[in-house]
Amino acid sequence: MNRFSAVADPFVPHEFGRKVELMGGVPRVLVTRAAYSRMWHYVDIGDEEVGWLGTAERLPSGDFLIGEVFLLEQEVHATTTEISAEGVAALAEELITSRPDGVEMVSSIRFWGHSHVRMGTSPSGQDEFQMRLFRENECDWFVRGIFNKLGRAQFDIFLYKEGVIVRDAAWAIFEPVDTGERTQIEAEFSAKVRPKKYSASEFGFGRFGGGEVQSAVIGHSKKKGGRHGR
Ligand SMILES: [Zn+2]
Repeated sequence: MNRFSAVADPFVPHEFGRKVELMGGVPRVLVTRAAYSRMWHYVDIGDEEVGWLGTAERLPSGDFLIGEVFLLEQEVHATTTEISAEGVAALAEELITSRPDGVEMVSSIRFWGHSHVRMGTSPSGQDEFQMRLFRENECDWFVRGIFNKLGRAQFDIFLYKEGVIVRDAAWAIFEPVDTGERTQIEAEFSAKVRPKKYSASEFGFGRFGGGEVQSAVIGHSKKKGGRHGR
């Protein structure tokens, strides 16, 4: 009651903020142009909930990069998607037999994408269950992407190790700087672009002279005064 009494008030719970801050910022999902293009075609072609897997890596910046995506062999349904063990095994075999770095590629599969066709991109119960299965495979993290034909792509980052899910993470197309191209463009720049050289007459008092500025200011103030009926 009395704010100045000798006894402190007991602590009582307030309306908690419950905000989580990630040290180093909230990670984004970056997508290579090749992966973006393939995923768009998958979504455009499929009228069911088609699904795929992809490689992902964590960049030094903390962001996640989707590198390459692979369509799974699957039985599709209009409103559900499931990753079958057979589909994953077939993809692993395909990569290992067709690519020199196939084994490495299989171990870097940390992305699952699927289409919700024309529905919203919020995850279904099945989608959440699938992410719990990935966790049991002892991955530190996994990225999920849900897409639809209405131009929406939603990525969720599951940081299993930290026990954090970044829902609807910011995403962007990955645009690496090509150093070879950069060197060429720099050479072209120094050949074609140079500072303008002004001749003495362009700095004449006629353009920016003190007298002219002064008269312009006076003229303006007179005009303004007149308009307001002073
Ligand atoms: Zn889904």
